[in-house]
Amino acid sequence: MEPMLITIDGPAGAGKTTVSRMLADRLGFLYVDTGALYRGVAFEAALRGIDPEDEKALGALAASLALRFAHTESGIRLFSGENDITDKIRTPEITMLASAVSAKPVIRQALLDMQKRLGQKKAAVFEGRDMGTVVFPDADVKFFLVAALEARAKRRFLEYEDAGSQRFEDVLEDMKKRDENDSSRAIAPLQPAGDAVIIDSTNLAPEEVVDKMMDFLRSRQN
Ligand code: C5P
Repeated sequence: MEPMLITIDGPAGAGKTTVSRMLADRLGFLYVDTGALYRGVAFEAALRGIDPEDEKALGALAASLALRFAHTESGIRLFSGENDITDKIRTPEITMLASAVSAKPVIRQALLDMQKRLGQKKAAVFEGRDMGTVVFPDADVKFFLVAALEARAKRRFLEYEDAGSQRFEDVLEDMKKRDENDSSRAIAPLQPAGDAVIIDSTNLAPEEVVDKMMDFLRSRQN
């Protein structure tokens, strides 16, 4: 497949991460998880005791951020300065905080520049919420994954269950709240780009979603 920039957006639990990774693997493209960047900001804000409503403090944090992805033997890892924070950004608390800080313009602007720089490399799959609408409006191919709320909450619950912590009702409630936050915020709200291909993953396994995407990419080349 020729090098191209592919975006995959959609709500939490629609299967974006699994599918984006698999698609990037199949194509031999770079995979960029932009949610990890928002989580990285949230992690640093929590570490410094910054209130997510304190835009001044968030601005200073954004200016001093040193987030970067590194390809290591154990896969792609997220570093903040010298610290590998990959595993620390996946807690329920950081998840909700990421949603809160991601509504702040100073944070979105800081990460926008960073994502655009990363996108200069073609042959990449970018996963997020606003990849096709705001960050890469000229992307070659845009996918938007959707799935029923219950199905999304169930997937997330099963992931957390491995870690043995959360109740299903709490996961469902958090997901509802996050959907609301992400869809109703003033800047870069979660919505499909006009030219996005929408795929409903409620009753599909990740492989089936990737097959559909590959079919679409092939049909485009003919
Ligand atoms: O995708 P993930 O669940 O890791 O993203 C965490 C949070 O980061 C989301 O709830 C959303 O608020 C925010 N986000 C965003 N824009 C992106 C990616 C993530 O606002 N491109």
